Amino acid sequence: MSIKENYKIVIKKIEEVCRLQDINMDDIKLVVVTKTHSAETIKQALVAGAKYIGENKIQEAQEKLPILDGQYEEFHFIGHLQSNKIKQLMKLKPALIHSIDKLSTAEKLSNYCVNEGILQDILIQVNTTEENSKSGTGEEEVLDLIKEVAQLPNIKIKGLMTIGLFDENPEVTRPYFRNLKRIYDYVASLKIDNVEMNYLSMGMTHDFEIAIEEGANIVRIGSAVFGARDYSKEEK
Ligand SMILES: *Cc1c(COP(=O)(O)O)cnc(C)c1O
Repeated sequence: MSIKENYKIVIKKIEEVCRLQDINMDDIKLVVVTKTHSAETIKQALVAGAKYIGENKIQEAQEKLPILDGQYEEFHFIGHLQSNKIKQLMKLKPALIHSIDKLSTAEKLSNYCVNEGILQDILIQVNTTEENSKSGTGEEEVLDLIKEVAQLPNIKIKGLMTIGLFDENPEVTRPYFRNLKRIYDYVASLKIDNVEMNYLSMGMTHDFEIAIEEGANIVRIGSAVFGARDYSKEEK
């Protein structure tokens, strides 16, 4: 099936969940995850209607984004951010960085933004499933991290992000999504200065419908649009 058809199917599925859950479809942001795919392939998704694209590696994004010049509305950075790559990332003008999970990285990002006179929106990544292999702050630490990051100038916390479990049965992730929504609502209720809970980024190809049911308003979808990724073509 073509990328255009795949994209339409994903939109239909999101529409259907929204209809059943009585959610306004306009409130859901679909970030199309373009990692490992060429600029030419990405263009097909943009032609099909994709507006927001997500990459998880800075070098790869640096190679592709210039070729897509301006055909996308927003670039979202969804990968692990090493503090020595902040400058390169910021040159790509990310609309949202989904993956801040350490105070030290947030401090360096804040310093960079102060120096450049820019404001950057970020999400705090939470490791809800507590697998060691995954990035993200633990649930115990998330509130402290939010309070500390909130004090840093020129970066603004706009919400939370998590990655679910890679289980064949997406239902196993539902309790983790539900739990993050609970934390999200709790943080919102605290009304911390410089913190807004606008975005809850959770849900990928195999579990985005469940994520939306549990309150996600950003879903990050790759394979359902582009097909399975071929990592063998990667340089490293
Ligand atoms: C790759 C990736 C996705 C998309 O994964 P699919 O299963 O292909 O939809 C979403 N979020 C993050 C952080 C990713 O790295």
